[in-house]
Amino acid sequence: MFEKVLVANRGEIAVRVMRACEELGIETVGVYSEADSDAGHVRYADEAYNVGPARAADSYLDGAAIVDAGERAGAEAVHPGYGFLAENADFAARVEDSSLTWIGPTSDSMRLLGEKTSARREMDAAGVPTVPGTTDPVDSAEEIETFAEEHGYPIAIKAEGGGGGRGMKVVENTEEADDQLESAKREGEAYFDNDSVYLEKYLEAPRHIEVQIVADSEGNVRHVGERDCSLQRRHQKVIEEAPSPALSEDLREEIRAAARKGVDAADYTNAGTVEFLVEEGNFYFLEVNTRIQVEHTVSEALTGIDIVKEQLRVAAGKAVSFAQEDVSLDGHAMEFRINAENAANDFAPATGTLNTYDPPGGIGVRIDDALRQGDIVGGDYDSMIAKLIVKGQDRDECIARSERALGEYGIEGLVTIIPFHRLMLTDEQFTAGEHTTNYLDEELDPERIVEAQERWGPAESAGQEGDDEEEESVEREFIVEVNGKRFEVNLEERGAPAVERASGAGGGGGQSGSGGRSRSDRGGGGGGGSSGGGGEGDSGEDGTSVSAEGDQVTADMQGTILSVDVEAGQEVSADDTLCVLEAMKMENDVVASFGGTVAEVAVAEGDSVNMGDVLVVLE
Ligand code: ADP
Repeated sequence: MFEKVLVANRGEIAVRVMRACEELGIETVGVYSEADSDAGHVRYADEAYNVGPARAADSYLDGAAIVDAGERAGAEAVHPGYGFLAENADFAARVEDSSLTWIGPTSDSMRLLGEKTSARREMDAAGVPTVPGTTDPVDSAEEIETFAEEHGYPIAIKAEGGGGGRGMKVVENTEEADDQLESAKREGEAYFDNDSVYLEKYLEAPRHIEVQIVADSEGNVRHVGERDCSLQRRHQKVIEEAPSPALSEDLREEIRAAARKGVDAADYTNAGTVEFLVEEGNFYFLEVNTRIQVEHTVSEALTGIDIVKEQLRVAAGKAVSFAQEDVSLDGHAMEFRINAENAANDFAPATGTLNTYDPPGGIGVRIDDALRQGDIVGGDYDSMIAKLIVKGQDRDECIARSERALGEYGIEGLVTIIPFHRLMLTDEQFTAGEHTTNYLDEELDPERIVEAQERWGPAESAGQEGDDEEEESVEREFIVEVNGKRFEVNLEERGAPAVERASGAGGGGGQSGSGGRSRSDRGGGGGGGSSGGGGEGDSGEDGTSVSAEGDQVTADMQGTILSVDVEAGQEVSADDTLCVLEAMKMENDVVASFGGTVAEVAVAEGDSVNMGDVLVVLE
């Protein structure tokens, strides 16, 4: 077994991997960015290296610096976690070429199964059903029409390199084909350096079912059961559970067997997840995630198998430690992503200081995090700050225990989606296990999210944009006794301005700005998907994405520039699009609020921008 492992990641997953190392007697090496010098994973690691003073947020993507740190530290292997470089086959190859061992599938397997179209070809060849679609890149609207003649609309245009819910556009009819094709290519280029796209039939009400696999180089391929990740927002998972409440036992076994067969045929090793969509009793392969996933903990809860330890073992050349018949899937588990987001404000990322951090405990409760009270949660990284995993003997007990645990979760100083999770646990569709992947975006009334935030969230977060009000009204908690009985009383400081409440649903409110409109993709449509509402708290279609300070057009939120539509010297009129900013999974046209000449273009396609950054200067 290895004696020292570098963990090329941050946050909860870095700590989770280090915990497995600790139990196996392996020393751990952390890496960190400037912004993270005192972060939880750095505190946990036995030693840690700064891997990038240049642009703080990008440090975890600097493969050369990470391998260099590993070699300097005398580490023998690199665990990538998820996100960042975890699915980057070039980085895996770089590690393979160094003195270090890559804890994951080989870079060749990652290329074969990690790329969506080649994975589809592989699965097809292995006899695993795939979502009807193309395996070659598509370049024109005519090709979309031809596909539609055979399969009908809606059609998904998907970026070959897509991931994390990005790079997928849904086309409902011929008229939309051109625009959506352009948009998918643009996202592919901006996020994955690859503008190649392909088509799939868009299933309208599927369940997302995935199978956890662990395989070794001796040819043993095991499954650790399936997970149901159908509760999604804009194609991103929010709550995951196992076993799936939506499968018959026969279908469940068929899907597990198909996943094993598919990765076996590709000579895959280490941990991986084979994802499927299930609709009307049929299942279709979607993609393989060639890494540990956020929700691996759900399978661990059911089986007691430590999947990260298995990864370490397999990478060190050992066999998987369990036989398939030893895997017993007991009870029911759910994972709740504790995201620092305000669900009542279109799930906008939140930042703050954890004045209180008091996670739940008790039977059946697991917390994976890298936080402690007093930490500052900035906006540089993913908004998921912790995971709550709850296990019960059956789904009903799991739900009741989850309500209890979420109720206990004490967080002050930071808005999280805990109220949203609590809402789900009382939601008829979710508790009946009848939700499909589009339930949150298309069916759930956004007003209920606002109500949940009012009921269970910090008072200031129930409004759309609480930050400003937060400073002016001070809430204090008192414990009083009346006739010997203890009461907890929340008081708002006298004379403080009233706390604004939401009048709208999901979108809107509070965002300042002088113009702009947002375009939402299909997935975002149902949730009051605009990125801002111009301050009136309405939930109309038009959103505000920029604010002008003098002649500077600045970004109203953190995001990525998908395209720049003007150049210096160009004349523009009011309402002309200057650039397209992607933020919170939505494309926002940044438009001129007045006519003039473009004096300067301060951004380029693919740039990441922070709130307040100048995009374009008009004169
Ligand atoms: P990513 O790599 O971005 O995670 P996936 O291909 O895994 O993208 O899909 C993520 C989610 O997007 C799925 O769980 C599902 O909700 C939705 N999705 C993807 N492809 C389709 C499709 N062909 N039909 C319907 N929904 C889809």
